[in-house]
Amino acid sequence: MFKTRVTELFGIEYPIVQGGLMWIARAELAAAVANAGCIGFMTALSCPTPEDLRAEIRKVRDLTDKPFGVNITLLPTLKPVDYGQYIDVCIEEGVKFIETAGRNPEPYMAQMKGAGMKVIHKCTSVRHAVKAERIGCDAVSIDGFECAGHPGEDDVTSLILIPLTADAISIPVVASGGFGDGRGLVAALALGADGMNMGTRFVATQEAPVHQKVKEAYVDASERDTCLLMRSLRNTIRVLKNSVAEQVLEIESKGNAQIADIAHLVGGGEGREVLEIGDMDKGIASVGQVVGLVRSIPTVQELIDEIVNDAREIMTRKFGAMLGGN
Ligand code: NAD
Repeated sequence: MFKTRVTELFGIEYPIVQGGLMWIARAELAAAVANAGCIGFMTALSCPTPEDLRAEIRKVRDLTDKPFGVNITLLPTLKPVDYGQYIDVCIEEGVKFIETAGRNPEPYMAQMKGAGMKVIHKCTSVRHAVKAERIGCDAVSIDGFECAGHPGEDDVTSLILIPLTADAISIPVVASGGFGDGRGLVAALALGADGMNMGTRFVATQEAPVHQKVKEAYVDASERDTCLLMRSLRNTIRVLKNSVAEQVLEIESKGNAQIADIAHLVGGGEGREVLEIGDMDKGIASVGQVVGLVRSIPTVQELIDEIVNDAREIMTRKFGAMLGGN
């Protein structure tokens, strides 16, 4: 057993969080993570409408009776999104945990907290973590520069961001960005976090609802196979290098690129096809540098067992021996 403020907040066995993953964090994955003693967040925007999210919430409840949550990502979108309606569905369906990500969740705090929800906000800077605590969030997930998807614009790595955040706020901290194994879990706790978030690592599991070719591409990729797009739009995103990413970089390198110039390349619809049909050059796929550590496609239970066993081994035997124990 691992007891931290994160296990206590969510009522789970191990301090491991599966954060929102566009198109991937659906009921199958969240339930597998929950059944393995951790917490998974289903990504609301993977459901085209709030009613689709309602169906997904009911589906996860058919697959597990353990805690789960819903991710609401507040970042620019090509089509407007009524976030309040997605949150209403979560409230009506009795969802207890919401992970907000990206922009300031303040406009929705009264709605969520008024319904008794616990809110964990995922952000990429200490100043935003401090603000999250001030507006009433229950925990912060701090996402270092290594992360998949949107790392923000400050380029501060997890090794620096996690201890600075832990020093700056008093609510629980989840370390995110660069985590994928037992060593990472121990490091996260040593850096002052109360748990770790994994995204990319969970994609290469048996239960992740993506094409087998995607999982194999993750196993084959090295830590040097990601790149940053949309830096010129100040909406940077870390993705797997492929021909589409190269085209976006080419357009951006000419200067003064607008979202309209690249929307046909970075759009979520094309990204979804990458994941569903396994055509790795169909669109962009958010992937973190931790992909270099992904070497197998286990079940979620096998992955969690391995992480927890490795973390225990390091904390007891390895560190114990260093301190003169046996
Ligand atoms: P989408 O198809 O609406 O947009 C595609 C990409 O373009 C997204 O990265 C989006 O942020 C960006 N974008 C859209 N309009 C923009 C604008 N006016 N200026 C700058 N950038 C703009 O998005 P989607 O793939 O359907 O994803 C839905 C939401 O989930 C988006 O907000 C996206 O950013 C977010 N997302 C988050 C992560 C993450 O790391 N948390 C990963 C993937 C997607």
